[in-house]
Amino acid sequence: LASKEVKKEPSVVRISDTLAIGGKELVVMAGPCSVENEEQIIESAIAVKAAGAQMLRGGAFKPRTSPYSFQGLEEEGLKLLAKAREITGLPFVTEVIDPDSVDLVASYSDMLQIGARNAQNFALLKKVGQINKPILLKRGMSMTIQEFLMSAEYVMSEGNQSVILCERGIRTFETATRNTLDLSAIPVLKSKTHLPIVIDPSHGTGHYNYIAPMSYAAVAAGADGLIIEVHPDPEKASSDGPQSLKPKKFHALMDRLRLFAEAA
Ligand code: PEP
Ligand code: MN
Repeated sequence: LASKEVKKEPSVVRISDTLAIGGKELVVMAGPCSVENEEQIIESAIAVKAAGAQMLRGGAFKPRTSPYSFQGLEEEGLKLLAKAREITGLPFVTEVIDPDSVDLVASYSDMLQIGARNAQNFALLKKVGQINKPILLKRGMSMTIQEFLMSAEYVMSEGNQSVILCERGIRTFETATRNTLDLSAIPVLKSKTHLPIVIDPSHGTGHYNYIAPMSYAAVAAGADGLIIEVHPDPEKASSDGPQSLKPKKFHALMDRLRLFAEAA
């Protein structure tokens, strides 16, 4: 179902009446890794909107590598995201980590994220395949492109065709970056699938300084969107501070990105 052989024209996934991913417009989703409190998420939402982002991101259920790390505010986090949407008008994407909470997360959010750690959680993939909300499917950190497409197939074969693929870096021998952002996945996926492709330079590199250049490169390579971590005070972030941009830096990135997007 994801294959270009089945459908030649690129898919445009509708998020709201006024926003779609996969069309002409580059869509930028930005916000903190985790929702921490009301002030933090609302301040983030206002800042990313002012910079030109079209969507807010923020984790309420966090799939942390360690069980002792911050696990997220859960439903309270979803409520705060909804409040931020009310204030700014930005639709939001947030992660769902288990089949039992899919309906809850879907009842608040505009798009559901399947994280890298759950990219082959087939029970979860099937469950989000049964709902009527767009799915941002992240590539697992050790997944081949073919396996990635098979995960999309798990969602689509249950009925939900609104799938957006997200490259967020894969594990290699390199340790200078958190992951190795596989930008070649953009042209490779474009040759195989009609689904839109979003790049996550934040998890892809793990360092705020590398986010802007990888964002420009992603746009030049044909990405349909970007998902970027932005935090009002990264030093104090509950998760992923080192890879989070301050609002001012994100604003500068967005201004420059427009030039690349026009040229692409
Ligand atoms: C995230 O988006 O904060 C996240 C946990 O991403 P990933 O699943 O790509 O690690
Ligand atoms: Mn994160």
